[in-house]
Amino acid sequence: MELEEVLLKYEPVVGIEIHAQLKTKSKAYCGDKNEFGSTPNTLISPISLGHPGTLPKFNKKVINHALKLGLALDCDITRYMHFDRKNYFYADLPKGYQITQDKKPICKNGKVLIRLENNNTKEIELTRIHMEEDSGKSIHDLDPFNTLIDLNRAGVPLLEIVTEPVIKSSFEAYQYVSEMRKLLRHLDICDGNMEEGSMRCDVNISIMPLGSKEFGDRVEIKNLNSIRNVQRSIDYEIVRQAELLDNNKPILVQTRTFDATKGKTSAMRKKEAAHDYRYFPEPDLNPIKIEEKHLLDIKSSMPALPNELYEKFTNNYNLSTYDALIIIEQKEIAIYYESILNFTKNYKAAANWLMGNIKSYLNQNAIEIEFFPIKAENIALLIDLIDNNMVSHSLASQKLFPEMIKLPLVNPKKIAEENNWISESSSDDLSEMISKIINENPVERERLKNGEKKLTGFFIGKIMKASKGTADPKKSNQLLNKLLN
Ligand code: ADP
Ligand code: MG
Repeated sequence: MELEEVLLKYEPVVGIEIHAQLKTKSKAYCGDKNEFGSTPNTLISPISLGHPGTLPKFNKKVINHALKLGLALDCDITRYMHFDRKNYFYADLPKGYQITQDKKPICKNGKVLIRLENNNTKEIELTRIHMEEDSGKSIHDLDPFNTLIDLNRAGVPLLEIVTEPVIKSSFEAYQYVSEMRKLLRHLDICDGNMEEGSMRCDVNISIMPLGSKEFGDRVEIKNLNSIRNVQRSIDYEIVRQAELLDNNKPILVQTRTFDATKGKTSAMRKKEAAHDYRYFPEPDLNPIKIEEKHLLDIKSSMPALPNELYEKFTNNYNLSTYDALIIIEQKEIAIYYESILNFTKNYKAAANWLMGNIKSYLNQNAIEIEFFPIKAENIALLIDLIDNNMVSHSLASQKLFPEMIKLPLVNPKKIAEENNWISESSSDDLSEMISKIINENPVERERLKNGEKKLTGFFIGKIMKASKGTADPKKSNQLLNKLLN
């Protein structure tokens, strides 16, 4: 069956659990380094190995990160809470339990605004956000006979962010995960790198007949490693479940995995029920109390949130939705943008330079904006030069900008002067020059007037030569057409 066909009959219901590894120097309950990519089993200690008799010690940074996210998402913050043990046996969990939060998560409720087609938005309600620790990593594909274990990740702090079952399509899921990743990055609490596993998604999905009020049995797809795969696995699963129901077969409540190459999900295991874990309060860690003052301090330390920036960029700076979203996607780009605006009021031009020349320079050289050599002030001066008709846009883009990269501290006006790029001609001078060129070339003039469009190039070439490359080709073209008629 095709997805479109299924959607005429069934309504999908999706809830998403995101695990975000927090950016901290050390792990959640001991001093081992929290770092990705080190030699396996070098960032460990008796505590992360779960040796008997060791005591965990809580990393306060983790609470601050959780509070930032909770405040950003308008959650209810739990003021008095404790940790719980979730018991299960697995080779990558040496303690035999995970320290997590069960009944008293640090955040409850809250919502995420996502963007849909045609500028519509939707609020995705959250159930909870809780603090927990990561397990170690089982490596199945290095040794043909054995599973290898790397415990560097054991005890790395995580936030688990759980939505209500309110997501209605794979596209909404895509937008939700993108929005959450953007927010985690803006708050600087998680790097959001899904390939490296610092942000992982589990997707819960069921379908029900259109108009039904009762949810169907759900399947959980574990550990999706890209936003695209979140979307693909949901679309696959909707069709798979519809085919089962159409053939009067039950949906088995399972944990499944998504094979990105085949584009299919397959069963991993029967889903555990909560009582299988025998949760109980963690006796080795004190309960936590969050004081009002602490919350206020966190609030005042928060950066501008992506949605606030969006409102400002579209309302105050008149940027289009498209431009605003591209610039806000990366916090550092948004910061650079606003620093250009400290020196110019041409908001649109600043956005164009950022999304055009500057972004391509960053891409070509594979560097981040923090390492971009030109100061924001000089980009503003460059914009002024164009706005004052002192250099043409094409000259600025093709010649002056590359020269500014080489001389990032020099005022662009000075660079333009030294290279004789300052256009001496005002619009009137330019018209005069073009009239002269037209009159000097009567044969070509008649041919162009008779519709031989390729002669435009001939005239523009002459104009550029006469102006030593300083004339604006676009404006020259307009004037040429005007003067011919
Ligand atoms: P568990 O602890 O087993 O993972 P939870 O009750 O915490 O289960 O729910 C996990 C996720 O599953 C939540 O995001 C929730 O919204 C979602 N969910 C619950 N029931 C359904 C359903 N019938 N269909 C789709 N998603 C569901
Ligand atoms: Mg779960």
